[in-house]
Amino acid sequence: MQHRKIAFIGAGNMANAIIAGLVSHGYPASMITVCSPTPVRRDKIAQQYGIISSSDNVSAVQQADVIVLAVKPQMMEQVCQPLQNAADFSKKLLLTIAAGIPSQRYHDYLAQPLRLIRIMPNTPSLVGKGVSGLYAEATVSTEDKQFAEQLMQSVGTTIWCKKEQEINNIIAVTGSSPAYFFLFMESMQQAAENLGYTAEQAHELVLNAAEGAIALAKSQNETAFATLREQVTSKGGTTAMALAQFYEHHLPQTVATAMQSAISRAEEME
Ligand code: NAD
Repeated sequence: MQHRKIAFIGAGNMANAIIAGLVSHGYPASMITVCSPTPVRRDKIAQQYGIISSSDNVSAVQQADVIVLAVKPQMMEQVCQPLQNAADFSKKLLLTIAAGIPSQRYHDYLAQPLRLIRIMPNTPSLVGKGVSGLYAEATVSTEDKQFAEQLMQSVGTTIWCKKEQEINNIIAVTGSSPAYFFLFMESMQQAAENLGYTAEQAHELVLNAAEGAIALAKSQNETAFATLREQVTSKGGTTAMALAQFYEHHLPQTVATAMQSAISRAEEME
């Protein structure tokens, strides 16, 4: 990966995860700055990874080649405003991981030509197993796109969105997805507890079962989950009886409707 000076604006969970991924992949710590007004978190991250800590967003942006905006969406305007006249953004790659803020808003906030890429990571990025959707405006160079892609590959896998609206599809498919899986696992845990297992036993059983299913799926050269399901379902057997209940209660349609609701909400929030 090409090495450029990176400034993270925001020292929260996501910034921490990406910094951890970069440093563990050998990115030079001396080329990374983390910026936040609150010293405790910022200094902890800086000490942990040997990177530079700063409370001055403007100076960090001026010195960086790449800026990662990693503050809460509601803070974004306030964070961008002082940066407006602080730097020539045509000389810097601007990455934002904030949910729900369309590209045009950054152009409004910064009022100058930008090399902007929106990134939508998900929480498993915190353990290096994230999925990030990326969207680059047409003016962004191939080198900048490669840089952003490699940055996010340090915490998981990536997929490019051809149109900006597709970022909302990524929110529905992967962004919100940890909660979908947790709900299913929570339901299984509850049902196992109803059968007499303790909460800890039920937790272990469900976690190991989920891990096993994922490992099995990954070990097969098969992209259709339907085929994997059929392979573990004997006709007229116990699994078939359980699955029949899911179908009777329209699980596939419910999942599709739920994902569509996530997209609608993301559109409303823009
Ligand atoms: P967080 O609350 O953990 O961190 C936000 C950080 O911003 C804090 O360190 C805070 O001190 C800092 N901050 C506040 N004001 C600032 C300022 N003026 N200048 C510099 N730093 C400032 O948030 P997070 O979970 O890391 O999320 C960061 C962004 O990532 C959000 O925009 C969120 O939408 C996006 N995101 C998060 C996730 C996730 O799973 N956590 C997933 C996708 C996208």
